[in-house]
Parts: sequence; structure tokens; C-alpha cells
Amino acid sequence: MYDVVIVGAGITGTFIARELSRYELKILLIDKENDISNGTTKANTAIIHAGFDAPYNSKMGYFNVRGNPMFDKICKELDVPFKRIGSLVLAFNQEDLITIEKLFENGLKSKIPQMEILDGKQAKKIEPNISDDVKGALYARTAGIIGPWELAIALAENAMENGVELKLNTEVQDITKSNNGYKIVTNLGNIITKIIVNCAGIYADKLNNMVSDKKLNIIPKKGQYYLLDKMAGNLVNKVIFQCPTEKGKGVVVTPTVHGNLIVGPDSEIIEEREDTRTETLRLKYIKEVATRSVPNIPFEQVITTFAGVRAEPDTGDFIIEEVEDSPGFINVAGIKSPGLSASPAIAEYVVNLVGNIYGGLNESKNFNPYRKKVIRFAELSDEEKDRLIKENPKYGNIICRCETVTEGEILDAIHRKAGARTVDGIKRRARPGSGRCQGGFCLPRVMEILAREMNEEIEKTLKDGLGSYILTGKTK
Ligand SMILES: Cc1cc2nc3c(=O)[nH]c(=O)nc-3n(C[C@H](O)[C@H](O)[C@H](O)COP(=O)(O)OP(=O)(O)OC[C@H]3O[C@@H](n4cnc5c(N)ncnc54)[C@H](O)[C@@H]3O)c2cc1C
Repeated sequence: MYDVVIVGAGITGTFIARELSRYELKILLIDKENDISNGTTKANTAIIHAGFDAPYNSKMGYFNVRGNPMFDKICKELDVPFKRIGSLVLAFNQEDLITIEKLFENGLKSKIPQMEILDGKQAKKIEPNISDDVKGALYARTAGIIGPWELAIALAENAMENGVELKLNTEVQDITKSNNGYKIVTNLGNIITKIIVNCAGIYADKLNNMVSDKKLNIIPKKGQYYLLDKMAGNLVNKVIFQCPTEKGKGVVVTPTVHGNLIVGPDSEIIEEREDTRTETLRLKYIKEVATRSVPNIPFEQVITTFAGVRAEPDTGDFIIEEVEDSPGFINVAGIKSPGLSASPAIAEYVVNLVGNIYGGLNESKNFNPYRKKVIRFAELSDEEKDRLIKENPKYGNIICRCETVTEGEILDAIHRKAGARTVDGIKRRARPGSGRCQGGFCLPRVMEILAREMNEEIEKTLKDGLGSYILTGKTK
């Protein structure tokens, strides 16, 4: 019997698993997918928001503002890329100027530090490529950008190092209450646990509704994006927002933590929860809106498009609580944006909920907050590269030429705890295929390495999710 089973290995589930691994608990983290962060956590804008947007008295506002300053320490401990670059909300007219004033006041109520209202000239001075039509801006220095899936993967790895078990490809199909806990029915058999933490993202309502009479309803809302080549990465230095509307925070132009430029998202309610297709008309709309902020975005340098799905709760706010009619069942549901920014604070809160259920938790003496550093060959000096190749010649074998990723890095991505088992899993950890050619050259080589290391036939290699075979038949 487990003390805690966490369902969902996105950013909330992995954060909670890692924070709970500080205590003497038998913990299991499960996910229906074949990798960590294969839900919403792998497709979002990757911003650590300052926190002025969500109402100061909402859960979204509270957890965002509390979570934001926690990223520096955790990203250092786990060796995850994070840059505090600041953000601007642009105002183009009188109405927008009133909106940024309101956002500023909301931020002050939440005690967000280092915010100021700039006039158009001041905004242009710090961000020269924004439109000449900008009349003012809300500048928040504490906003940042991060690698969201890198963080989730690192959290899972560190949680496992500290004793958490991980089961992937394990889908919760039913949950029944038992005398002192729950029986979770999965495609791979039953699991017994005292506590369940429901971090199932766009399916969190389904899990809640298996155990509670107080039904939840999650509305899936898709957002689409362009990702541009690193040549466009310096077009802006900060996260560039427009004023939020009732649909959300609107189209953003921002550098990524790896030096690309990202443009998006839009917002669209969808029928199928996992529909992450991109569409020409939607992308055209994003292009039109984004060029209002930054007129000279070089869209000819787009290297890919993608989409993510928000878990919009019909209550409008995060739902983070022990379910009234199901003691020991904790919902972490409706974690739409700013869920990534809020995740460390959500984890801290859930640890307290678990502690309350057990009447206190015993700290584990062996907890190690650090993860073994990741070697990023492209970032090393020539001397360091030389030394490394002498120690391990696999680092002298460049597999991805766009991003300068070596065989050594790919082997590390596969063989770490919570290691990659798919081509995109390797891409998310070590970046082969993330560059301009999007895997055009390195894909066969990555497949060969993965098949060799897994001791499997290459035909069985998956691109990403279950069934995503790359080699499906002979052409000649
Ligand atoms: C377009 C877009 C832009 C965003 N931008 C930002 C941003 O810039 N900053 C920010 O702070 N937030 C942002 N967000 C929000 C943020 O991405 C989410 O809040 C966060 O990723 C949610 O993480 P999660 O762990 O709750 O859910 P997920 O990452 O979706 O994880 C849920 C997991 O549960 C698993 N699961 C589901 N059902 C089952 C089952 N039955 N059995 C087993 N496993 C199951 C899934 O496979 C999945 O891996 C954005 C979201 C979107 C969609």
C-alpha cells in the first residue's frame, strides 16, 4: 500500500512528488503517457509570470505570486535553464493605459516588487523593436522564462533519486474508496493507496468525478504558437504582452530560454481534449495580432508550429483542496495559466495538506535536493570540450548539427532516472532535432542510438506518444 499516489506527471505532479520526497513516505507517481510532461506542460509559453494579472484575491494570484521567487533556488538545485528577463504589457490607447494601471494596482495589492509604469518613449528605449504606436507599458522585472518540460523531468528525476516510484503508460480507469484509502484501477492492474493527489490536467475532472458527488467540469482551451529560429531570438529582450482580455493574457512575443523566439498563443474552446493540431487560419490571426506589438517579426524564420491545451475550470480559479466527501483525495485541478508559475507554491501547499491528513510528516534524513548536472556540450569552452572528449569520446560524436548535440548527451538523456524512451523524449532532454532542420538530419541517427540502447528493433522506435511509429513500412 502506498502512502501517496500522484496521478499526472506534468509540472504539478512532478513538483508535488519531489517536495513530498523530503519525507518518509511511500510515494508513487503515475502517468498514462510514456514520458514525463507529455500533457500541457510540454506546450505552453514557458513564462514565469510576475503575478499581476490574476486577481490578487484568487488562488491563481496567490500561488503565482508566492511561486515566482521560488524558481531561482529550485532551478539551481536541479540544473534547469531559467532567466529572469522581465516583462512588458503594452498599451496602445487610453483604454489600455487604464488597464495597465489596474494591473499595476492589482500587483501592488499582491505586493509584487519591481513593477513600474513606463511611457511610450521609456518602453521603446528598453525594447527598441516594439511598435511606435506604444503609448505606455507595465514593466515587471520579476517575470522570467524557463524550460517547463526540463523542469518537470528534473523534478521527476530528483524525486526518484529520493525514493519516489514512477510508473508510465499507466492510465487510471476507475477509483473506488476502500476502508482506509483508495483502490485505483489502471490498465496495468490495481494500486492501493491511502492518499491520492489528482494532478491529471485536462482530465482532472474525470478523476474527481470517479470519487466525489461534487462534480467538476474542465473546459479544454487550445492555444497555438509559432517557434522561430535562434536568428530571431534577439528581436526582443523581454516577454512582450498586450493587454489581457476576457479570453486570457493574449498573444505574446518572447525569447525562449534556449534563444529562439516564440509567438502565440490564441485561445479556442475545443471538443477533443487532446486536439493539438495547428491550423493556418488561427496562425494567421496570431501573426496579425503579434505584429501589432512587434512589427518586424521575421516569420520566414519559423521552424515549427505547435499547440497546447489549457485545463479551464468552469469555476474560473484553481481547485486545490481535499475533496469534502472523499477524505484523502486531493484535487490539484483546473491548473490553467499561470499554473507553471504557481507550481512550486502549489506543491508546498499540497505537502501541507498531506501533512494535515497524517497529523505531521517525518523528514527523511537522506533527502538530496541536487540533481547530477547535465552536460550541455554546446555551452562548454574549447578547453572543456577537449577535456570531455578525451574522457569520453562519445562527446566527440556530433549527432545534431543545428544544436551541436553529441552522442554523449543523448546517452545521458536515455540512461538517467526517468530517462527518455522516445525520439521527442530525447529532444526534450538534450535538444537534438530542436534546431532549424527540426530533425531532418539527425532523426535517423537518434533512432539508431535509442534502438541500440533499448535493445529493441528500430521499427519499434516511437516519435512521441504511444503508437507514434516513425518507420511503418518499406518504400523500396
Ligand atoms: C497555451 C498555453 C499557454 C500557457 N502558458 C503558460 C505560461 O506562460 N506560464 C504559466 O505559468 N502557465 C502557462 N500555462 C499553464 C501551464 O502550462 C499549466 O498550468 C501546467 O502545465 C499544468 O500542469 P499540470 O501538471 O497540472 O497538467 P499536465 O501537464 O497536463 O499534466 C497532467 C498529466 O496527467 C496525465 N493524466 C491525465 N489523465 C490521466 C489518467 N487517467 N491516468 C494517468 N495519467 C493521466 C496526463 O498524461 C498528463 O501528463 C499555459 C497553458 C497553455 C495551454
